[in-house]
Amino acid sequence: MTTTYRNLIGGEMVETSATMEVVNPANEEVIGIVPACGKDELDRAVAAARDAFSTWKKTPIDERRKVIQQISAAIKDNADELYRLLTSEQGKPHSQAKGEIYGAAGMVAAQSTLKLDDVINEDSDTRLSRTRRVPVGVVGGIVPWNFPVMMAMQKIAPAILSGCTIVMKPSPFTPLTTLRIAELIKDVVPAGVVNIITGEDTLGPLITEHPDIDKITFTGSTATGKKIMEGASADLKRITLELGGNDASIVLPDADVEKVAEQLFWSSFSNAGQVCIAAKRVYIHEDIYDDLSRAIADYAKNIVVGDGSQQGTGVGPIQNKKQYERVLELIQDAKDNGYKFLVGGEHSDPSGTGYYVPITILDNPPEDARIVAEEQFGPVMPLMKFSSEDEAVERANNSEYGLAGAVWTKDTDRGVALAERLETGTVWINEYMHLSPFAPFGGHKQSGFGAEYGEEGLKEFTYPQVITVKRDAKV
Ligand code: NAD
Repeated sequence: MTTTYRNLIGGEMVETSATMEVVNPANEEVIGIVPACGKDELDRAVAAARDAFSTWKKTPIDERRKVIQQISAAIKDNADELYRLLTSEQGKPHSQAKGEIYGAAGMVAAQSTLKLDDVINEDSDTRLSRTRRVPVGVVGGIVPWNFPVMMAMQKIAPAILSGCTIVMKPSPFTPLTTLRIAELIKDVVPAGVVNIITGEDTLGPLITEHPDIDKITFTGSTATGKKIMEGASADLKRITLELGGNDASIVLPDADVEKVAEQLFWSSFSNAGQVCIAAKRVYIHEDIYDDLSRAIADYAKNIVVGDGSQQGTGVGPIQNKKQYERVLELIQDAKDNGYKFLVGGEHSDPSGTGYYVPITILDNPPEDARIVAEEQFGPVMPLMKFSSEDEAVERANNSEYGLAGAVWTKDTDRGVALAERLETGTVWINEYMHLSPFAPFGGHKQSGFGAEYGEEGLKEFTYPQVITVKRDAKV
């Protein structure tokens, strides 16, 4: 069934004359028709956000918190409908889609509790100096297709908590669930505070360059992040960029092979590997390499790749055709170079229906293999052997990316010491992909600019303003 969706502009659900189709990656059927906005619709959304900003920035923060909590409740109350819709447009299995919807509702509620208190810099007989945070203004949000709801909500919540208003653009591949949420929150958010508009990739640069947008908060690829930085430079817009990653996991020889195999598998394969913080390179100590790689391969053989709406599916399709072809190309390159496959590597038929890639695990490919050096963003896991910690650290850090990483060991002190040598924004010891709404998440090197989450993330939507009163002035 194909449903027509509308955009949220200035508190109204609106249609546009130009539209675009959204496809279910599990069967390539068109499931949604959404507006294809251009400059005119963007101008209307920005004008609505600017209008709303003058009142919203003066609205007491506790009232802003309440609105955010109502958004969280709207998502939670409609979770059943939303997670099914999410699976149909994104491809992830129902259980993971449920995790994203409830996770987004929880994250929004948690972010609503963040504080933006004033800071006293000096309180002396001669002077009172105080820093307050003022909202930057109208924010443009741009998000990708791998976690469409979580990404949109993790930007909307802190933006409006800070007193900003926002124009959010979902990925053209996955706008449906976000537009459904737009309908659900239309009456709880004051008109113009949150606007959600859809369009092709060409809408992105119009947002970046819009003269009445003050800040861009972006999640997506490093290549697009660079274009945004360039576009935003014209009027020195503030920017936050959450970009690509090629995260390394390092497994030390004391790790229990049976216990970590399953966790390592999911650190690479949840959401079919389409996670910025997925383990994309796994370095295993040579003492346990054979046993652990066998245990991971054995576990993988029981996981079903298929339509995420069907019970029993562990790994869904790739979200879109372009990414599907890219992942197949990386696997083909590995085959052409004679690298060894522990699982997968068989011929997959690109003419079949749905963008399915078999689970693929490689046995010790070289460091310069494309499938190791590039961000795969698919159900691919290269396992590599190392012999010393120094070597593991050097190989893990040998990347233009610096998003996250993990260390697996019974000796957590040793794990922490190793983590501190990794050049990434987040390192987990004995877990993976845990993000806290209270801890800053951001990439080092070419994985990002600035941070989201926590007080640090919230401050990115504000300017500091210092007010100084001279107490012993002669006036
Ligand atoms: P993408 O960069 O192609 O697109 C992301 C968004 O940017 C989409 O909404 C797209 O329409 C828009 N866009 C495209 N061209 C634009 C331009 N020139 N100017 C402005 N906007 C433009 O990324 P994708 O393929 O949708 O997502 C996959 C990438 O996102 C991966 O590299 C992944 O690692 C990264 N990602 C990072 C994080 C993180 O938090 N660091 C999280 C999820 C995904």
